[in-house]
Amino acid sequence: MLFDNKELAEKMIRTQIKSRGIYNERICEAMKRIPRHLFISGSAKQRAYGDYPVSIGHGQTISQPYIVALMTDLLQIRETNRILEIGTGSGYQTALLAELAEEVYTIERIPELLKRAKMILNSLGYVNIYFREGDGTVGWSDEGLFHRIIVTAAAPFIPEELKNQLADNGILVIPVGDYHSYQVLKVIQRTGTRFETRESIGCRFVPLIGKYAFTDE
Ligand code: SAM
Repeated sequence: MLFDNKELAEKMIRTQIKSRGIYNERICEAMKRIPRHLFISGSAKQRAYGDYPVSIGHGQTISQPYIVALMTDLLQIRETNRILEIGTGSGYQTALLAELAEEVYTIERIPELLKRAKMILNSLGYVNIYFREGDGTVGWSDEGLFHRIIVTAAAPFIPEELKNQLADNGILVIPVGDYHSYQVLKVIQRTGTRFETRESIGCRFVPLIGKYAFTDE
């Protein structure tokens, strides 16, 4: 390794996460532990701890560290939670969720990315992650309801299927908007049959492509 990743991870937390107001110690400590550079291949590894998204191939990206921390913070994860993640990508966000919750169910539509993420996450010793290849906009209904759902790609609207797979008092975090420009991070809280939506910050994600999202062009 040409760089000290532990030092870079600590600096990343100090200058990108805490400096922007995220002080959740469980999140910060987990992000310090996870070797982010392992989720990126080739020369792009050198950019792993920078304040931006990085290409992971197939036209996809590993999200900016601050966005990963913010979305995780908005989820208010408890140790006993079962989480559904749509868009495994590199698997970095999956690792963070697996550090904080009991079980993570993650879906990715690009087989090569899923295979690679699975290999890395298995090699890091995570045993609480379940993987599925396919369209995450339909959810994972045969696994019952989820306490938390996170979508890490830009959706044109909030898929009803995902709302329906949210447990009572569950939280869904999803970027919604036009993928050619920018989106807004939406936080949906379910209470019984009521869904309350609030908005967080503006963001930019690659498109969510599927039955209840954008179509593949
Ligand atoms: N959170 C990821 C990470 O830490 O690397 C970044 C995810 S990347 C910004 C978005 C991912 O969503 C891409 O890998 C893309 O292939 C995937 N994706 C897009 N539409 C999807 C769908 N309908 N179901 C599952 N995955 C999808």
